[in-house]
Amino acid sequence: MKKIIIANWKMNPDSGARAVALARACEEEIVSVKKVDVVIAPPHPFLREVGVSLNKALLGAQDVFWADSGAYTGEVSARQIRDCGAEYVLIGHSERRDSLAETDGMIHKKVKAALEDGMAVVLCVGESERVGGEISPVVGAEVQSALAGIKKTLLKNLIIAYEPVWAISTSGVGEACTPDMMFRARLAIEKIVADAYDQSVTKMIRIIYGGSVSPQNIAAILSVGHMDGALVGSDSLNAETFGRIVRNAAGMV
Ligand code: PEP
Repeated sequence: MKKIIIANWKMNPDSGARAVALARACEEEIVSVKKVDVVIAPPHPFLREVGVSLNKALLGAQDVFWADSGAYTGEVSARQIRDCGAEYVLIGHSERRDSLAETDGMIHKKVKAALEDGMAVVLCVGESERVGGEISPVVGAEVQSALAGIKKTLLKNLIIAYEPVWAISTSGVGEACTPDMMFRARLAIEKIVADAYDQSVTKMIRIIYGGSVSPQNIAAILSVGHMDGALVGSDSLNAETFGRIVRNAAGMV
């Protein structure tokens, strides 16, 4: 499966001009990269202008609402973000689960709506606390509830990001989880998906890792961790660093 590196810019930068400049700088860094999909997810207001400035990278949004239209002040639909050029959308990021009280039920509705609309969904799951090296049951429960009742044929557009909250650079312990733990998380997620559907589905979806990804650890994440890619937060805001992550990932395939 083709590897994928996704830049989650979160609520950065502070202007459209800076967003376009960062996108262009990232593009220059990855110009020679062929074997890896790269997605850039800027804040909603900058989607269209960043999208227009991308040649190689694909455009992603950081969230979406579940309804197509209507009286939902402040929300945006899959159709609207697609109209801005976004093909990918992050759903269920821990910062939204924690700070905005997004529930598993809301995340399920968003995943279903976005997949039915034809978008590629990056479903973020992960436990808050590190409990030794164990894979928390939270991971499986979040996957299970997000996918409940969703048609198997839609899952070809699904990416699951295992993102332990404690490993996220801005909120966690400042280090990624071990590649060995990532691999075990991968196996746990595959089992949940296989039990809910069948084994063939595990070959359709990409399982990636997020949390303190850097140029130094990306190779081990992909090789020892058996991940299909990475979701990158802080290090995606520096084009040179992000470029090194993508090029190092490409060196592994
Ligand atoms: C994230 O929050 O999606 C993330 C991966 O952050 P960081 O890379 O900064 O840990």
